[in-house]
Amino acid sequence: MRKTLPLLFEKSVENRRTHYLSKCDVEELEIPKNFKRKVAPKLPELSETDITRHYTALEANTFGINDGFYPLGSCTMKYNPKINDKIASLPGFAEIHPLQPENTVQGIFEALEEANKSLSEITGMDIMSFQPAAGAHGELASLMMFKKYFEDRGETNRIKIIIPDSAHGTNPATVHMCGMKVINLKSNEKGCIDVEELKSVIDKDLAGIMLTNPNTLGIFEEDILEITKIIHDAGGLCYYDGANLNAIAGILRPGDMGFDCIHLNLHKTFSTPHGGGGPGSGAIGCKEFLRKYLPGPQIEKEKDLYKFNSYTESIGQLVAFYGNTLITLRALAFIMSYGKEGIPKMSKHAVLNANYLKQRLSERFDIFNKNLCMHEFIITMEKEAKNNNFTAKDMAKAILDEGMMAPTMYFPLIVKEALMVEPTETEGKETLDFVADKYIKIYDDVVANPELAKQFPKNTIISRPDEVTAARSPIVKYMR
Ligand SMILES: *Cc1c(COP(=O)(O)O)cnc(C)c1O
Repeated sequence: MRKTLPLLFEKSVENRRTHYLSKCDVEELEIPKNFKRKVAPKLPELSETDITRHYTALEANTFGINDGFYPLGSCTMKYNPKINDKIASLPGFAEIHPLQPENTVQGIFEALEEANKSLSEITGMDIMSFQPAAGAHGELASLMMFKKYFEDRGETNRIKIIIPDSAHGTNPATVHMCGMKVINLKSNEKGCIDVEELKSVIDKDLAGIMLTNPNTLGIFEEDILEITKIIHDAGGLCYYDGANLNAIAGILRPGDMGFDCIHLNLHKTFSTPHGGGGPGSGAIGCKEFLRKYLPGPQIEKEKDLYKFNSYTESIGQLVAFYGNTLITLRALAFIMSYGKEGIPKMSKHAVLNANYLKQRLSERFDIFNKNLCMHEFIITMEKEAKNNNFTAKDMAKAILDEGMMAPTMYFPLIVKEALMVEPTETEGKETLDFVADKYIKIYDDVVANPELAKQFPKNTIISRPDEVTAARSPIVKYMR
């Protein structure tokens, strides 16, 4: 029996129409023949009811943070307060044109400046740019700035960027995109950077380090002040991957730890809906000495008016216009409603929730983080996979059957059979207990009855697709 939804194309009925347009009351222009199609496009023919039902059915089959627990590690899928959307939809923000004269859009300038001030304060940086459209884009912007900085100093040999093996995959990808060279650094048994190992890979070609902190193992790097000092002493720069600031925002500042540049995922730490592809904002911040390299245009105040300005040393423009400004506004609304007291509370609750759930799950599961974790932790199913052929993937599939999202799977790469759990601060204790009970029940059921492992999920529309083919050769076109 087919359980997937029929496509709009399959529901199509010849000559069925949804009529909206009234009769044309202006002179019709003939489109030149060479611009016209030879055959009509094959579009589905449907009534409005057909279309509405189709999309409502699709919506009912998606899963989001508003539906239930969504512990996708490294993604910070937290509740997005609706006030953010309300602010971002104010006509004065949502309906302005990017080419409007600067004196008519002073309001959004001021809001962006407010966001700049708040996020500079939170990160310990001197200035932010909201141009980058995603985290990886922010990384790219920052490394381009590093490159330009070294070019200006005549140190074009400095192209090596050190990246710990616990880093997010976008870090090494960014280095390659910038035409720089990745120096891979192996973590020690605690999952942290080994300072001696770090010293051993440094040479005169060092450009810097990209550090994710807390790292993707959910661990706060222990020797962070020493690490940034070692890099600076060797003439390099320090980059902080702050995509997941959920554990430290309002408590510690990367700028105070010696970092020169940072990116934030406003679409993680500072709420804003994401997953499913955007839009996002990979805001970057830097210290004063790197300001002139920031992507342009930047906002400046002259007398009482805000305006755009670009430095000639800027790495240039990264997106059309000014980035996803409505995402920045959502982040600003979030920061302002939490306030100076609320932001550190958010981080503490994120860490508390992760540790509570970790503790509950350790009743059955092997947890990589033996000590306190930050905002996320890693379950390893290595033993179960070996003994019972009960893998992380089987566990994830079983979780889907319980009407919740599975954790991030098989990441970070340095932990075998990993499930990376990030509950975020917006879950209550009852939810965490409910989740822990479900995970434990699945575990016990499978251990008692090992053949169950491969039978999940039973309740979802699609059970176990060929993920490699789906990712590598997706069929996104309907052929008729
Ligand atoms: C999510 C994430 C990124 C990349 O962010 P995108 O917006 O997906 O490009 C980079 N680093 C870390 C640590 C992340 O969690």
